[in-house]
Amino acid sequence: MKMDHLNHQAGPIMQWETVIGLEIHTQLATQSKIFSGAPTAFGAEPNTQACAIDLGLPGVLPVLNRQAVKLAVRFGKAIDAEIAARSIFARKNYFYPDLPKGYQISQYELPVVGKGQVEIVLDDGTVKTIGVTRAHLEEDAGKSLHEDFHGFTGIDLNRAGTPLLEIVSEPDLRTPQEAVAYAKKIHQIVRYIGISDGNMQEGSFRMDANVSVRPVGQKEFGTRAEIKNVNSFRFLEKAIQFEVERQIDLIEGGGTVIQETRLYDAAKDETRSMRTKEEANDYRYFPDPDLLPLEIDAAFLDDAIADLPELPDAKRARFHAEYGLSAYDANLLTASRDLADYFETVARESGEPKLAANWVSGELLAALNKGEGEIAQSPVSATGLAGLIRRIQDGTVSGKLAKQVFEGMWNGGGEADAVIDAQGLRQITDSGAIESMIDAIIAANPEQVEQYRAGKDKVFGFFVGQAMKQSGGKANPGQVNDILKRKLSS
Ligand code: ADP
Ligand code: MG
Repeated sequence: MKMDHLNHQAGPIMQWETVIGLEIHTQLATQSKIFSGAPTAFGAEPNTQACAIDLGLPGVLPVLNRQAVKLAVRFGKAIDAEIAARSIFARKNYFYPDLPKGYQISQYELPVVGKGQVEIVLDDGTVKTIGVTRAHLEEDAGKSLHEDFHGFTGIDLNRAGTPLLEIVSEPDLRTPQEAVAYAKKIHQIVRYIGISDGNMQEGSFRMDANVSVRPVGQKEFGTRAEIKNVNSFRFLEKAIQFEVERQIDLIEGGGTVIQETRLYDAAKDETRSMRTKEEANDYRYFPDPDLLPLEIDAAFLDDAIADLPELPDAKRARFHAEYGLSAYDANLLTASRDLADYFETVARESGEPKLAANWVSGELLAALNKGEGEIAQSPVSATGLAGLIRRIQDGTVSGKLAKQVFEGMWNGGGEADAVIDAQGLRQITDSGAIESMIDAIIAANPEQVEQYRAGKDKVFGFFVGQAMKQSGGKANPGQVNDILKRKLSS
C-alpha cells in the first residue's frame, strides 16, 4: 500500500491477503523421450535429438516410456497421493512454432497422480501442510532461440518429447516465502527419490506461479494472473512480490485484475503481460487416439516404489527425535540426501550430534557456499570433521581455535591432528604452565589486582583476557578461570 492512498482515502484501509498456487514442471530422469527412443541428454547440437515421433510426422505412433511412468508413480507415493489405476493421455491443441505437431500430449481429466500433500517448514519453525491437487505426465515442447540468426528466430526441437511431470498445488500458499518453501520442498523430494536432477539452469525444474489477492475475510478468491516459467527460487519470490503489489495497486486505483499469463523480467524486476489466459476449452482437449489408457497394476506399483529412500519429512522427524535437533536445524540438514548423510556420519563418528549439527550447518555450509560447492566435493570429509569434533571434546583444541583447524583442513592441511600440530594449536592444559603465566600477569598488574580485591568483580574479565591473549588462545579456559580465582582471592 502506498502512503498517498493512506492519506487521501476515507474509511478503513483495506487489508489484502495473497493467494498462490504453483504449477511445477519437472523433467523426469529417463534416458529417452516419453513417447520415442530419441535421447534426452542436455546440450546436444540443435535439432539432433528429435525423431519423427517427437515431430509428429505422419505415419508414426507414440509408445509410452515405462520408466517415465515409474518415476511419476514414485513421486505420487512420496507425497502420499492416490495413484490412478487407469489414467488417460489427452491432446492439448494449440499453435506455437516450437510445437510442430500442433498438439502436446498431456493428461487432463484422469492424471496418473491424484491428490496428495507435502509439509513445509516456515521460518518460525511452524509446519504447514500444502495440498497437491494432481501430478500428470506430459511431453515437453521445443525451444525458440532468439539469438542472432540474421533477424530470424531459430527453433531447437531437441527438447520436444522430453518427459515432464507437472505438479499442481492447491491454492494453499499465502506468502511469497511460503511459495518458495513449497517449491523447494518439491525440488527436494524429486531429487531425494531420484526422479529428476532438478537442474534449474538446464530447464529441468520450471515453476509457474498463479497469484491473486483478496480483501482479508473475503471467502472467494480474486482473479489470478499466472507468471510463467520462473527458473530460480529467488526470482519466484521476487516475481510474486512484484505481482502482489501490482494487483493491489491496480485494484486500489479502481482497476480490475484480468486473468492472464505474465512473464517475469528479472533485469527489470517486474512482470509483464504475455497473453490473456486461455480457457481449458480453447485447447480442445480430447483423448489421444494413438495411446491406450495407462493401466497400473499392483506389481508395477510395488516395483516402482520398492527402493524408495527415506523421505525428507521422515528424515527431518527422525533427526529431531534421534539427535535432538530443532525443527529448523533438522530441516536445514535434510535439505539434500548428501548433506543429511554427511551430517549423520559426523554425528555418529563424533558421538556429538549437537556439535555435529552446529559444525555442519555453520562452518561447513559457509565454506561450501563460498565456493558454490556441492557437499560431495567438500575437501573436509565427514570422518575428518568428526575427528576435529572429538579433538574439541577431549580438550586437545579449544572450540575457538577449532575454527582455525577447520580452515587448515579445508585448505589441504590434512586431518585435525596434523593441522593442530603443524600450527601449534594444541590447547595448554598443563596447569603448571598456566599457573606461572598467571603469576606473571598478576605481578605485572598490581593496580587491577587492587581493584579486584576491592570488590570490582568486572576486572576478572581483564585477567582472563590477558591469559588468553598471552597463550595465543590456547590456555584451557576452565583452568584459567579456576587458577585465577584461587590466586586473586589469596
Ligand atoms: P488452469 O486449468 O487454468 O491451469 P487450475 O485450476 O488447474 O487452472 O489451477 C492452476 C493453478 O492455479 C493451481 O495451482 C491452483 O492452485 C492455482 N489457482 C487457482 N485459482 C487461483 C487463484 N484464484 N489464485 C491463486 N492461485 C489459483
Ligand atoms: Mg494448468
